[in-house]
Amino acid sequence: MDRRALFRGGLLVTAGAAIGAAAATIPRVWPRNHLPFDGGYAPAADRVDDYDVQGRITATWHVETSEPVVAFTFDDGPGPKWTSEVLDALDHYQVPATFFLVGQNVAAHGDLLRGRLDRHEVGNHTWSHPDLATMDAPAVGKQLARAHDTIQAVTGRAPKLFRPPYGHIGGSTLMAADKAGYSLVLWSRKMNEDKYVQDPPGQAQDIVEHARPGQIILAHDVGPANRYVALSQLGAMFTGLRQRGFRFVTVSELIALGRPASDAG
Ligand SMILES: [Zn+2]
Repeated sequence: MDRRALFRGGLLVTAGAAIGAAAATIPRVWPRNHLPFDGGYAPAADRVDDYDVQGRITATWHVETSEPVVAFTFDDGPGPKWTSEVLDALDHYQVPATFFLVGQNVAAHGDLLRGRLDRHEVGNHTWSHPDLATMDAPAVGKQLARAHDTIQAVTGRAPKLFRPPYGHIGGSTLMAADKAGYSLVLWSRKMNEDKYVQDPPGQAQDIVEHARPGQIILAHDVGPANRYVALSQLGAMFTGLRQRGFRFVTVSELIALGRPASDAG
């Protein structure tokens, strides 16, 4: 991977042999006001040599590309209130999307996804949506593994992408995700439902007008009532974006588009 590639909308976290998780064998979660640098969840604490970090994790907010493509992402599902409606809209407009699934929601509502993911990608959004920045690497690893196994069992897909809840990461998050072979995915544009509660079409216009090639757009198909402000406008967004010449891809397709030819494969 050349140097340009490392900074194309993201970063490469390199970790040498000296970087690894704390030697603690019991996953731990620290209180919010505690910053355990020594043997805790900090990324380069001592006594870390036994953690198998590959040092290849990438983080992607957006992708540099001249192609007029954007990737819609839906977090926190599946849920009984809106997930089916979102899938219906994506089917109706033939739009692929990426769902960052919460493991325990997949366990409870996985039937909503069965037979409906053909065009879509699934990613890992942890088991129970905690703030990973308060956890050590083994605890983060457990969150990832439990969600991974459940997603794979229910959807038949092994997710390769990981989005941390709240976009919040600690060094331990990077180490655990790296160890599990995940790529980190954040976003470069998000729905702003609070602003458009009284004006849902304004939310659609906001997304259409601010679209840029390579953008990763964040929405949620589970959550408080105001999330529906954005979900109710998906058709208007897809139509408006197509009128501007945009097409839609999954996050992995987007990342592949931004990859320099020399780094292909
Ligand atoms: Zn979330």
